[in-house]
Amino acid sequence: MARIGLVAHDDKKDDLCRWVEAHKDKLVQHELWGTGTTGSRITAATGLEVNLLKSGPLGGDQQLGAMICEGRLDVLIFFIDPLSAQPHDVDVKALTRLATLYDVPLANNKSTADAVLAAV
Ligand code: PGA
Repeated sequence: MARIGLVAHDDKKDDLCRWVEAHKDKLVQHELWGTGTTGSRITAATGLEVNLLKSGPLGGDQQLGAMICEGRLDVLIFFIDPLSAQPHDVDVKALTRLATLYDVPLANNKSTADAVLAAV
């Protein structure tokens, strides 16, 4: 069982919910962690249980970063919106930096998420 982090910026939340629904049979076998709004949306859309952290802008991205540092997260699916500025951009950068530093598989879009999930 992999511990999978799920995060999406606002304009990407629908995309992530659709991706989770499409992969529900596989994802139900894993331990899911999400930032507050993303995780709640996923549970409402798919019925899957997601362990909820703080909302991203309120520290949820940093909580996922801490999980990575502590070896408590195996995969990060992070649907970033490349067309909008984020008020918590420093947290976004910190999270992607830590996933890179600790060699945690990091998917920022659907195609990569498909490939990463096929590998877990
Ligand atoms: P949210 O956070 O799921 O609480 O909206 C996501 C983010 O980091 O923007």
